[in-house]
Amino acid sequence: MSDDVRDLLTEEHLLEPEGPDDEHVSPALDPETVARRRAALEHVRQWGDPVLTTRARAVETFDEGLRDEVRRMGALMHDALGIGLAAPQVGILHRVLVYRVEGDSPVQALINPVLEWKGREQDTMEEGCLSLPGVLVEVERPLHVRVRAHDEHGEELLIEASGLEARVIQHEMDHLDGVLILDRTSRDQRKSAVRALRCVSLCAGTDRCSGLLSPVVLGVAVGGLGSWVVRGWVVG
Ligand code: ZN
Repeated sequence: MSDDVRDLLTEEHLLEPEGPDDEHVSPALDPETVARRRAALEHVRQWGDPVLTTRARAVETFDEGLRDEVRRMGALMHDALGIGLAAPQVGILHRVLVYRVEGDSPVQALINPVLEWKGREQDTMEEGCLSLPGVLVEVERPLHVRVRAHDEHGEELLIEASGLEARVIQHEMDHLDGVLILDRTSRDQRKSAVRALRCVSLCAGTDRCSGLLSPVVLGVAVGGLGSWVVRGWVVG
């Protein structure tokens, strides 16, 4: 490991997720959390898997199997330190997503979500994705949305969301249509993100990556610790 990388990894920054406006620096993750996160990420499909670019099917049966799926997704999201997760990310082509923006609140599941309304006001923020290791790109999205869905018991839901909650819901709904943050960012950012992702998959965490990657990506590519330097939100 190069000195630069070691410095990067041993500074304050094995973190996640850290709000972009938050001056406060979170404490480093403890080894148990890092190990749990790494184990969870092994169940999350990664960039290049065709399931991530395939449109998911509507759920028709609200049974115990669906509730098991939701419970499993909630646990994986929790362990991976994400704030959202969509079923295609765990290899299931169902229109199912889970999210939790506030650490202590229960996991919210949305089944067959439909965007009913979006406000005109837009907001741009850096987003990461559990399926795109180490990538953060700027994504512009409506600040306010209204979504109709069902919960895992088949009850109708009407969600009016703003800010980070609206962003997470839109990110996860994109996954249900096979759309990734790479499709929502500028050409330049997409190009450098794809270059970084190729490097991660080719170099598998060796120092060879270091010449090609930005500091944000370097943490995960070379450290291989299952954590990275986060300047935005790793959404899910
Ligand atoms: Zn994602």
